[in-house]
Amino acid sequence: MSSPDRSTAGEGLQSLETTLATVLGAIAGATEAESAWILDALGRVAAEDAVAATDLPPWDNAAMDGYAIRAVDVAAATESTPVRLEVIGDVAAGAAPGVEVRRGTAVRIATGARIPTGADAVVQVELTTPADASGAALGPRGRDATGPLPAACLVHRAMAAGASIRRRGSDLRAGTTVVRSGTAITPAVVAVAAGAGLEHLLVHRRPVVGVLATGDELRSAGTPLGESGIPDANGPALMALVEDAGGDPRNLGIAKDRLDDVKARVSAGLAGQPDAIIVSGGVSVGPYDHVRTAFEAYGTIDLWRVAIQPGKPFAFGTAPRPGGGPPVLLFGLPGNPVSTFVTFELFVRPALRKLAGLERTGRLVDRAVLLDETPKGEGRRAFVRVVAERDAAGSPVRDDRGRARVRLAGGTGGQGSHVLSALAAAEALAIIPEAVDVHPAGGEVELWWLDRA
Ligand code: AMP
Ligand code: MG
Repeated sequence: MSSPDRSTAGEGLQSLETTLATVLGAIAGATEAESAWILDALGRVAAEDAVAATDLPPWDNAAMDGYAIRAVDVAAATESTPVRLEVIGDVAAGAAPGVEVRRGTAVRIATGARIPTGADAVVQVELTTPADASGAALGPRGRDATGPLPAACLVHRAMAAGASIRRRGSDLRAGTTVVRSGTAITPAVVAVAAGAGLEHLLVHRRPVVGVLATGDELRSAGTPLGESGIPDANGPALMALVEDAGGDPRNLGIAKDRLDDVKARVSAGLAGQPDAIIVSGGVSVGPYDHVRTAFEAYGTIDLWRVAIQPGKPFAFGTAPRPGGGPPVLLFGLPGNPVSTFVTFELFVRPALRKLAGLERTGRLVDRAVLLDETPKGEGRRAFVRVVAERDAAGSPVRDDRGRARVRLAGGTGGQGSHVLSALAAAEALAIIPEAVDVHPAGGEVELWWLDRA
């Protein structure tokens, strides 16, 4: 049944790759860079390499609670013949030592406290016994390091020079790169930036994205549906998707299926200086589909039949940015809610990743076996909504080749492009290639986990 050219764009369909390349090619670069306080930088993308402002640790410090000593003084110590050291002081974390460890002495020290001059090792409290001035034990061995400072301590083991000391700069040296340009600021990056003494990071501005739903039938949440209304799902969905993708969504409301209303809302959206406008619905070529014409009033737009399922009609173009600067991206997504969602993932999310400054615009790809036989549209790449088999601990089950085992979300009836319940249940999109007409039960697929872009 399959003909060789059906794997590409047959019947006037345009391939996904061509479409995505056109979208990404319209983006010259990321949004401007701006300085953000490190916590406000979370979820954004570094616009430059950031370097450590300090050595970390900034000075030698203790890795253990115990005593700062000179290793040479305890070279002969054994369990039964401990070495007695005079305890001449105490250093807490954050305190300047103010005392020097000389021959035959020790300074009690807390984890993280700066090593006093003269000391070259820390012996942990568990290897010592507190003692009085005569050397008689004051309490049990290995007692905790709290309470009054003993006059002396007995050390029961020889220590190597450097033992239990975290050297200055052993984690980071001032001037080394701690955040790489083009990478996302995660909680761990916030940790390393803060630990390296940085207060601000240069990050890209979040892309501003206008979101417009279209359709006479749509009612916003809280509005009675009346005789023929349906709740607007795509408006809130796209707002959430934009936010999730690191953008700054702006609600342009719901347009009636009238050219003047769609135009007025696109115009209002453009006035808000967005980086992109996304319109859902009204993108086909029916009598009520005005999105393409509305976009044409402000910019250039193409409408394609893309070789994907769901989401065949897809409009994309650009409009000049009011006041100058890079053009505003215009996306027209098909109105069926699952089509809107999938086309966002295929075309809008990569665009927002590029605008946000991420080096990697594509998704992480996993492999799975799709256990259900799945028919699909001829010549189109299908993105089917699936759930993973999980073990008792909740981890996805994998076969002996490391492939996740997935099934159609909502069963075979869940794959309609209007079926929101199966979309919400889905954990991943499984990808069935163009050339396959019916995916065989148990066949391999590529997998996009929906929570791991
Ligand atoms: P359209 O692309 O405008 O022809 O819409 C296709 C289908 O998607 C129709 O059944 C619409 O009612 C539905 N639809 C369009 N927009 C939305 C929306 N914002 N929320 C829920 N369903 C929608
Ligand atoms: Mg419509």
